[in-house]
Amino acid sequence: QAHLDRIAEVDGDVHAFLHVSDHALEAAEAVDRRRAAGEELGPVAGVPLAIKDVLVTTDMPSTSGSRILEGYMSPFDATVVARARAAGLVPLGKTNMDEFAMGSSTEHSAYGPTRNPWDLDRIPGGSGGGSAAAVAAFEAPLALGSDTGGSIRQPAHVTGTVGVKPTYGGVSRYGAIALASSLDQIGPVTRTVLDSALLHDVVGGHDPHDATSLADAWPSFAAAAREGARGDVLKGLRVGVVKELPDSGFQPGVAESFRAALETLEAQGAEIVEVSAPHFEYAVAAYYLILPAEASSNLAKFDSVRFGMRVDVPGGTVEDVMSATRDAGFGPEVKRRIILGTYALSAGYYDAYYGSAQKVRTLIQQDFARAFADVDVIATPTAPTTAFRIGEKIDDPLSMYLNDLTTIPANLAGVPGISIPSGLASDDGLPTGIQFLAPAREDVRLYRVGAALE
Ligand code: GLN
Repeated sequence: QAHLDRIAEVDGDVHAFLHVSDHALEAAEAVDRRRAAGEELGPVAGVPLAIKDVLVTTDMPSTSGSRILEGYMSPFDATVVARARAAGLVPLGKTNMDEFAMGSSTEHSAYGPTRNPWDLDRIPGGSGGGSAAAVAAFEAPLALGSDTGGSIRQPAHVTGTVGVKPTYGGVSRYGAIALASSLDQIGPVTRTVLDSALLHDVVGGHDPHDATSLADAWPSFAAAAREGARGDVLKGLRVGVVKELPDSGFQPGVAESFRAALETLEAQGAEIVEVSAPHFEYAVAAYYLILPAEASSNLAKFDSVRFGMRVDVPGGTVEDVMSATRDAGFGPEVKRRIILGTYALSAGYYDAYYGSAQKVRTLIQQDFARAFADVDVIATPTAPTTAFRIGEKIDDPLSMYLNDLTTIPANLAGVPGISIPSGLASDDGLPTGIQFLAPAREDVRLYRVGAALE
């Protein structure tokens, strides 16, 4: 009730939610009944959860921020949603996002932007700005997001929250409306590292419905976070700093917060080690070929027949109906990326664009492998700037894309990443985040280190 009251109080300004559940209290009471009946429920039972609208739910519409899916009701729950319900988490509602998770500001939502609770004139990050804003504004204690190129971590950075992109394959993508299937990962957005770990423990692990799901048995992330909070895990920890990520590309206040965080790490016994990742500078370019290529294929299913919206064209052919529907149902950023993707995949250009981008992807994976032979984790500022103003970058896609500079390499390589708050920037007083990256399957390191520094 407290969270529903808070939503009623602030969401008119923040607009974190696209849909608020009308049966959250009933769901909470059902959890009480399960407990009373003697069911063993875990530590998060009864806790409200905000769900990014990219995840399908049977009891609330799932739009992925797009007009083409307005009012769409899924016949099944995403695996992460089903696991959350089974653990007694109480879905509060569906959160706003850039259309089909394309963006870094939530301004590309077909349903209007979300505002950053720290300053309502500024963006909450994207694409998962709704989940991060809901958590930052105390509308929800826990949220789920999706991260294809930074959409969990960058919103966490600009809203002073914690966001985790797990190892690729660590959390099921079944029921997550696909953007770029080889990059997408589902993960938590919360106010503390332990909260993220608790949520990750619930939603993670092998899922036979997802062909890329890892069969691994995962350790408890909550145990790792508790160990980090207690102990001296930073002593002797080798923290890599990428020498090719130049200070000059970062807002001075962001670079300064990052340096201060490194000093804290050092003061607690960590060793800061310079590592080389010479191909990181090509990551954004490679990503903006691979992502549109995969997205153009994934979005072909919105054909006016199988899902959602249909625009009638009297006397028109099937193709006329598809074309009119896609024209009316998709926003400008989605159309831009479909055109980029089909172009990059077209005969005669495939090798030059898509093929080259895949080679760059391999080189970035090798950069990580070399670096992790030397260090336990890599640290970077999570994003180059603090929250920019609504409208500031909307007409300049390239400058919007460059905001993903430090988050994208992890998706290209499949490695896990966490963003935790690293104080307010000295130049504009807005939240900043520090990102830690670990080798694939070593998500535990992120929880240990994150909780130790928090
Ligand atoms: N900002 C990135 C993009 O626009 C990240 C998207 C994401 O992670 N879903 O593609």
